[in-house]
Amino acid sequence: MNITWLGHAAIKIEGSKIVYIDPFLTGNPNASMAAEQIQKADIVIVTHDHGDHLGDAFPICKRTGATLVAMHEIAVDAAAQGLCAEGMNIGGTVEVSGVKVHMVTALHSSDRGDPAGVVVELDGKTLYHAGDTGLTYDMKIIGEFFHPDLSFLPIGDRYTMGIHSAVKAVEFTRTKKVIPVHYGTFPLIATDPEAFKSLVGDRADVIVLRPGESTSL
Ligand code: ZN
Repeated sequence: MNITWLGHAAIKIEGSKIVYIDPFLTGNPNASMAAEQIQKADIVIVTHDHGDHLGDAFPICKRTGATLVAMHEIAVDAAAQGLCAEGMNIGGTVEVSGVKVHMVTALHSSDRGDPAGVVVELDGKTLYHAGDTGLTYDMKIIGEFFHPDLSFLPIGDRYTMGIHSAVKAVEFTRTKKVIPVHYGTFPLIATDPEAFKSLVGDRADVIVLRPGESTSL
């Protein structure tokens, strides 16, 4: 499968299905594409209701017919707007078109409902998107229970983990590959992903992408 970092915390996963997570493109100074360019999507996952994560999720679902998977309170509003939406909550699993989405803990805030992270199972691979979160021991559960092949971890500090706590998150989640996200979009979350990569060392393969760049899994 192909994984593309679209900038900020926005991810495109292309396997047997096309999955977007936190597609914040409009208003994102680092966005690698415009939301209007997305013509095909099967599932759009939103980790929490902040503008830089909910982003263009509703218009993308409306245009493509994709199913929105999000916290209950966000999904209720999406359904009221006529979108196909699957609401869930932390601890639950939803399966859409053969793609499993598990909702997991995140320590953060959210305008509607609680914030979350997600573990996505697609084509035999397991991917963890931490959403916005501080370091938490709950990440050990993700490592022990889900064994992620790839994790998207925020490293920009201030609103989420910074590079030092994210190194601990790599240990806790026992993830083999990490793509750092949620940094550099704005001056307040500027950080050096290469410093994070050096700190992680041989604990995991840290893949530093530029917005729009892809890696395969
Ligand atoms: Zn947030």
